[in-house]
Amino acid sequence: MKKVIAIDGPAGAGKSTIAKALAEQLGYIYIDTGAMYRAVALTAIRAGVAVDDAPALTALAAKIELDMRAEGGVNRILLGQEDVTEAIRQPEVGAAASPVSAVAGVREHLVAQQRKLAARGNVVMDGRDIGTVVLPDADCKIFLTASLDERVNRRYEELRAKGLPTTREAVREDISTRDYRDSHRETSPLKQADDAVLLDSTGMSIKAVLVEVRRLAGA
Ligand code: C5P
Repeated sequence: MKKVIAIDGPAGAGKSTIAKALAEQLGYIYIDTGAMYRAVALTAIRAGVAVDDAPALTALAAKIELDMRAEGGVNRILLGQEDVTEAIRQPEVGAAASPVSAVAGVREHLVAQQRKLAARGNVVMDGRDIGTVVLPDADCKIFLTASLDERVNRRYEELRAKGLPTTREAVREDISTRDYRDSHRETSPLKQADDAVLLDSTGMSIKAVLVEVRRLAGA
């Protein structure tokens, strides 16, 4: 039987690390929906479109050609012919992705693409609204979280390892602002689905979280 696993949660909870590793272990496709919102944000920044210009952002999201490909353990994101895997991880793109993703028209286009991708079956999809809106019939729903301190530390170490200059204070500000906006927007706010299992990964290693997620997914 084809299986769909949905993982939601706030910024820096480790969703992509866990979702990617889980997909690898199970031989499933990993779909990083945050990368899709980031790709729209990157396109908007490059085109000089303001993050609150809803009609222009909706038009961008309708036109955008996105593809995802697993390559040597890395999930490559292609925007048309261009590989934007690294470009979309810049902190300013993440910051812009949050207001861009609050635009209902943008969500409509990306959610349609996400459902199409999930229809292939045997997927792990992570984001903010997967269990509540994108795939309400997912076989397994996990809401992955961790304390703010821990999420700040993890994101800070991740950015430093990539050689991106930042401070803990800047990361804390970015995560807090995004969480607030993502949880309070009108369309598809970040929220645990009623039938999702809450997993607080504070103090847990990646390996331990993965074991627990596999147990919850019955995989
Ligand atoms: O997960 P990631 O940090 O890459 O997501 C970037 C931004 O995209 C989030 O802050 C959130 O605003 C938005 N997002 C969303 N819905 C999703 C995935 C991401 O609104 N399913």
